Amino acid sequence: MPLDAITKVETFIVSIPRDMPYLGPLREGERINERGYLIRKGNRSIYPATDMSVLVKITAESGAVGWGETYGIVAPNAVKSIIDDVLGPVIIGRDPGDPVVIHEDLYDLMRVRGFFGGYYVDSLAGVDIAIWDLLGRITNRSLASLVGGQRHASLPAYVSGLPKATLQERCDLAVEWVGKGYKAVKFAAAMSDDGIVKEMAALREAVGPGIHLMVDLHWKFTAPEAIRIIRKLEPYDLYFAEAPCEPEDIDGQAAVAAGIGTPLALGEEWRTVFEYRPRFQRQCMGVIQPEMGHTGVTEFMGIGRMAHAFHVDTIPHASIGIGVFMAASLHATAALKRVPYHEYQHSIFDKNLRYVTGDMDCKAGFYTIPSGAGHGVVPHDSVFNHVVG
Ligand code: MG
Repeated sequence: MPLDAITKVETFIVSIPRDMPYLGPLREGERINERGYLIRKGNRSIYPATDMSVLVKITAESGAVGWGETYGIVAPNAVKSIIDDVLGPVIIGRDPGDPVVIHEDLYDLMRVRGFFGGYYVDSLAGVDIAIWDLLGRITNRSLASLVGGQRHASLPAYVSGLPKATLQERCDLAVEWVGKGYKAVKFAAAMSDDGIVKEMAALREAVGPGIHLMVDLHWKFTAPEAIRIIRKLEPYDLYFAEAPCEPEDIDGQAAVAAGIGTPLALGEEWRTVFEYRPRFQRQCMGVIQPEMGHTGVTEFMGIGRMAHAFHVDTIPHASIGIGVFMAASLHATAALKRVPYHEYQHSIFDKNLRYVTGDMDCKAGFYTIPSGAGHGVVPHDSVFNHVVG
């Protein structure tokens, strides 16, 4: 007996202005191009100058609505097109009580053509989050309860990034966050103009012992280079080292993991259990960082349970978005067992919180997991003033 039936799938590209680009002020040689993107010299990656996102709205026959969001920060029309042209029409009539089966069916549509990552799986993620949310709204159950039960009432947040121009300002900002009750801070090596080791030493001096410090190495190094640098950071008590080698370099990841005394944190760019599995098997990481905007709920839970089987911690990544996939990430994370922290992108989360309804929040070192049915948030009407494309 079906619960309901999906009758409509809609997508919205949103572009929300921000005062300062992600990762801090523009550096020498960096500029915003005519399409609104900038390339960070430190990690050679492209970012939008605004907060770009793609929202997915799924409506059921009963009138119930579920909301999803996916990673649409660059070329968002790619994911919009995949959902509008392929995924949406295929799921019309499907029962929102079957989220995992629907996800598997959609994954299969393009599998033999080699579309098992990238924009295709990002598109699946947005649809998947919306279907899980819809199921929660119809059954009046929270997403955490639907995926196994809410183990954690709140989640510790680590402060991600210190978007200031100078090392002194970054140290001051770290101290400010610690003063607000946060116990962990991550810095971005791509912005460490004075050197990574000097930045780590200065931060440790500033925040004192007992605070977890992490570094994001932004895929910049060969394995031997990464081992050398991370070993130099270890005397300052490094909690984890993120993304030292290029994303495809499984051998390099395994070599670094074996060559240092600090857990490696990897995974923000991988989307499915198939991408994680070989890295678990090679013992590449002590921490995984699945990003809900890339994985969706179904893959996130599969990846998180796989981490559990390999005795690896999950510290989810949380990047640019208006807060819908963030809410889904908090719910899914709250259902997992080994979750020391969830990333807190303060420069995005705080600014965009006004664009969703609900009680999601991050204060004094902890996230509040949104209450209510589904993932607990709904885009505020004001978001639709920022729809583009
Ligand atoms: Mg990162």
